[in-house]
Amino acid sequence: MPELPEVEFTARQLRTQVVGATISEACVFWKRTIGHPEPEDFAAEIAGRCMLAIRRRGKFLVVDLSGDLFLSLHRRMTGNLLLLPAGWQIDTSLREQDALAWDTKGPRFYQEEQSSGSSGSSGSSDAIAALLAKETAYCRVCFNFADGRRLLFTDPRKFGRITLWPRAQEEGFFAGQGPEPLGDAFTVEGFAGALASRKSSIKQVLLDQQVVAGVGNIYADEALYYAAIHPLRRASTLTLAEVERLHEGIIEVLNRGIEHGGTSFNDYRDLWGEAGDNYNHVRVYHQDGKPCVQCGTLIERMVIAQRSAHYCPTCQQLIVV
Ligand SMILES: [Zn+2]
Repeated sequence: MPELPEVEFTARQLRTQVVGATISEACVFWKRTIGHPEPEDFAAEIAGRCMLAIRRRGKFLVVDLSGDLFLSLHRRMTGNLLLLPAGWQIDTSLREQDALAWDTKGPRFYQEEQSSGSSGSSGSSDAIAALLAKETAYCRVCFNFADGRRLLFTDPRKFGRITLWPRAQEEGFFAGQGPEPLGDAFTVEGFAGALASRKSSIKQVLLDQQVVAGVGNIYADEALYYAAIHPLRRASTLTLAEVERLHEGIIEVLNRGIEHGGTSFNDYRDLWGEAGDNYNHVRVYHQDGKPCVQCGTLIERMVIAQRSAHYCPTCQQLIVV
């Protein structure tokens, strides 16, 4: 599931490509992906809007549009954004041929024939086209730009949501989001205050977007390992020194994640369909059975509130306070 680093990395890529681009049309292939307004109104409202800025709030990607509107995208489990260069076409014939298959797969995207007389495409551009073609599967919404490019929201599991709102409603829409961990609002004092009243496990508390925005399972596990805190530790019992270490750990593992282009465990891809490299740098997440890089003890997995947690039983001892 994409977390802050994956969304941030996509936002940075997108910013270099689509700021100033005009959306000529939005094609909605799976209606429930559009959370607000109704899909028909969404398409009518967004046509002709210019993408003015790309931002991130927690795990939401935010696009400021002309006409004082903003678009929010939440990828949930398997949502990804993919940018196709001009020259790609959409084949929606499956919708008429096999409605059930259409609901699963969505449209097919294909590259227009190269004009004859060109020297032919090189091997590397063939490889890029093949990767893009593969990643276009399961497209739920496609934004067509006036310049011929297309921005696809692909989502095999269909949990991702896109919404469109007047700018005036932004504050209300993001009311459930706590401080941004990479911004000035995320202070040791504020973090300590948020943890002080929480009786549940620190792992659960870190997943609460109101405590700190954008942290999910991967980076919560990594931050707890960094801070040498057991995931089951009751949040309210952390000492100030531990809170400081965890605060530092959250910032450290998120920045490292962005630096490596995000963590692709299964599904996350960047704007060009490429996997992120951070999976090669995680210390505990999905590393159960492998030796801890600090002490050699085998990493263990446990289930806390129906989510898996990964930790080193030696480096992260459970202190009962
Ligand atoms: Zn260890």
